[in-house]
Amino acid sequence: MAYAADEYFAVVPTQNTPQVTTPWWSGFAKITEESRSVAHLGDWVTVDYCPLNDRVAAAILLPGDMPYEYTKVSTTRNNVRFIDKTIEIEEFHKDILGSLKDDAARDELFRADVVINATASRHVSSALEFYLRQWPKHHPPIASMAVGHRADTAVMTLAQSEVPGIVHDLDRRLKIAFANSPSGEPFLDEFWPDHAALNRLFQPEPGCSAPTFVGSAADMAILSARMLNVLSEWLDEGYSNYARGFGMRVLQRPNVVAIVPHEAEFRWTADEVSDDLQRGYQIRLSPTAKAQMLTWMKKSERNCGRDVETGGILFGQIDDFLKVVWVTEASGPPPESTASRHGFVCGTRGVASMNAELAARTRGAVSFIGMWHTHPGSIPCPSPTDRAAMHKLLGSPDFGGRQFLMLIVGGYAATPTIAGSLFKRDE
Ligand SMILES: [Zn+2]
Repeated sequence: MAYAADEYFAVVPTQNTPQVTTPWWSGFAKITEESRSVAHLGDWVTVDYCPLNDRVAAAILLPGDMPYEYTKVSTTRNNVRFIDKTIEIEEFHKDILGSLKDDAARDELFRADVVINATASRHVSSALEFYLRQWPKHHPPIASMAVGHRADTAVMTLAQSEVPGIVHDLDRRLKIAFANSPSGEPFLDEFWPDHAALNRLFQPEPGCSAPTFVGSAADMAILSARMLNVLSEWLDEGYSNYARGFGMRVLQRPNVVAIVPHEAEFRWTADEVSDDLQRGYQIRLSPTAKAQMLTWMKKSERNCGRDVETGGILFGQIDDFLKVVWVTEASGPPPESTASRHGFVCGTRGVASMNAELAARTRGAVSFIGMWHTHPGSIPCPSPTDRAAMHKLLGSPDFGGRQFLMLIVGGYAATPTIAGSLFKRDE
């Protein structure tokens, strides 16, 4: 394989003082113009140290014995050299969180052809999501990989610049995808445990850097090599308008009969992004929720006439740190709703049980966030009636929530304009 002279590879630990027991690291790689060659990363990515009882449990594929004083950065450099001496390697010993905050350092990182986030750190995932939340956005493909605490399960996502969302967003999408999949439970239990005891066990975070990790170097090699091969296929295919998700399980013992492989792959199109009119939160409207609302709108136009309002319930998630509202699903009018040319009054019957079912199934990733209604032939801005209703609802002791998303669909189903307003209790 040929490399151009200016190709380099860089890894960035999260702490300024490199330590073997650093709980996470990030890799920023620029290897070659050919995305296929990312497969070669399979030879070194497993060098990430896995501390077990304060000792290095897994430091593999090293040329001979690797002294402990080597940092992850220099170990990775040595491994890449071991694979191919002609690759030029540039090391960056920088704090990843600090680099993301700094415009120049961030630009430097995102000049890479592909970024591999192997931190399994919520701090890093929130920071990546936060600093790349502007829309439209520009960055190289960002792959995030994590392994379960027994090194028998792994998940990976790939963020693309044409699809809103980085690690945090795609982690949520993957969680929902597994929640809706008949074989998703082992992944949910491993990476998104809803049991309090499991949650405690995995503090500060699950994965190979946590003290609960019990996997072997061979287990890590299987998972990381497979993820890198899948990643290189994705990059080779292109399709930068899809974000991707992947999960795999390796059984401890072979099956005696042939069964479906324990792998799952997902791809997601872009959410529609808009800014909330009230608070400046970013609203990410899923294609599913949008289609659900427009289907109900068409039905109402057909059955009740074009100028009668309709609406329903919104399910998703609101993140106050990232200032992002995910609208994941939309229902039609609940029983006992009333609709006319002058307004839509949303019924509440069945909403609580629908919410309980969704929240339990998705382990909190999707729950009640507000309501939607239409302004036929008009603009999607809250009317004085809408504002008065919000004031009354948020002031009522019967409403348990702190905030409420009001999504309005203006125009008609064939030519909709959609805008959201996030109302908070303190307003
Ligand atoms: Zn209205």
